[in-house]
Amino acid sequence: MSAMLRVGFMNAILSGQVSTTRRRILIGLAVATAAPAAGGAGAVRPADPAVVYRVAASEGAQELRVEATLRAGLGRELGLDTGMGPFVRDPEVEEGGGWRALERRDDRLDVPNCRPPSCRIRYRFALAEAARQVHDRNRAVEQQGAFLAPPSSWLARPLQDGQARFRLEVTTPPGTTFATGLFPAPGGGSAYEATLDDLEEAPYSGFGPFDNARVDVPGGIVDVAIAPGERDLPTSALAAWAERAGKAVAGYYGHYPVPRVLVLVLPTGRRAIGFGTTLGNGGAAIMIWVGRSATAADLERDWVLTHEMVHTALPNMPRTQRWLEEGIATYVEPIARARVGTLSAEEVWRSLVDGLPKGMPRPGDPGLDEARTWGSTYWGGALFCFLADLQIREKTGNRRSLDDALRGINAAGGSIAVRWPLRRALEVGDRATGTHVLRDLYGKMGEAPMKVDLDDLWRRLGVVADGRDVRFDDRAPLAAVRRSITARPASGRADAGR
Ligand SMILES: [Zn+2]
Repeated sequence: MSAMLRVGFMNAILSGQVSTTRRRILIGLAVATAAPAAGGAGAVRPADPAVVYRVAASEGAQELRVEATLRAGLGRELGLDTGMGPFVRDPEVEEGGGWRALERRDDRLDVPNCRPPSCRIRYRFALAEAARQVHDRNRAVEQQGAFLAPPSSWLARPLQDGQARFRLEVTTPPGTTFATGLFPAPGGGSAYEATLDDLEEAPYSGFGPFDNARVDVPGGIVDVAIAPGERDLPTSALAAWAERAGKAVAGYYGHYPVPRVLVLVLPTGRRAIGFGTTLGNGGAAIMIWVGRSATAADLERDWVLTHEMVHTALPNMPRTQRWLEEGIATYVEPIARARVGTLSAEEVWRSLVDGLPKGMPRPGDPGLDEARTWGSTYWGGALFCFLADLQIREKTGNRRSLDDALRGINAAGGSIAVRWPLRRALEVGDRATGTHVLRDLYGKMGEAPMKVDLDDLWRRLGVVADGRDVRFDDRAPLAAVRRSITARPASGRADAGR
């Protein structure tokens, strides 16, 4: 079987492609930090964080009282997210046993007198006012009495030494909880920890009367926080939905890719399951909109939450390489659901037959790194993953696959909690399969468009489009490969390639 695979594949993949100029340029490696991933092997953490924030929310979290102890040597300037400075009230620094006013310019605080070993500052943050005025889900927004705002909106952070760690301790009055995607600090308790760089784009967080549910999935915890809003579905149904998606993703990766993810459910909007968005950096959080009239059946059919959860397994990429983030989520989501039995193999292949042509470059289109359209970002990225999966299976006699590459990236500490350059992810993924498939394919698709003969691939895989359905031809040369893509991994194989 493997000899047949090998021949079939190289023909399928090589004959169909027309690659144009392959210029080698240096891809901008923005923010190539190598922060240790939480839960990753060999993570070494200094005992004392450089900054300790203590935050107390007022009644209903209208206002936050923030106190920070800053280690000396972190620089004079503290910054908040753009436009959030005006909601900082009465900033002060401790001096000679008393408090002295601090100067604020726009989104910056100037702390001139931080002498060793440390100094303390404090201020109030007008959270409710910020949410009403800014009304932006990435900075501050109100959801029927809950205030959603990532810590970067309300924590003034030293702008030097981004690798230094901070610790966050939050207290809330009865009836209000703090929900955050930040990873809990080591040692338990209710504190959180990450690096100051993470704080630049920290995970979604919020204060409010959330309904909370905790779900254990293999290798991780899914914390569900449901914001106030009208909904027909009970909390238990939403928790079961999160569990299903979590188990599908844990199945594909061998275990859930981060130790903990927050799913912030916003019951609002007309669509049953609306938009979802994921943010990492020092943790993992998903924000997802669920319409009031959503039913248990809508949750059963939903793909959005699984898609978002797949995002938690890959490091943040530079902006030009969002196609890899979206491509992996688009390609892996239906496969992960098929493997736990919530989607049929026919539905997976139907979605590929329908979707992949949208990722094919049209005349004049650039390579994936220059791609800016929806089709090239989601389906162009998915096409990259599909071809990579087929080529890895071909080169290894179907013993290795894209699963192994993606698990390898995760096992090396890669997750949405950290930022990696794309080439590092591809290298680590290739190492896990013992091939150069990802590197070579990126060489062909990253900088220039590559045409692919999809019809020829369907024929070889034995996928026959039949109206709105697909049929399978088990005599096709790559039928075994097609079957193994959606097959449940045999027991004992769960950690292959790790
Ligand atoms: Zn996505």
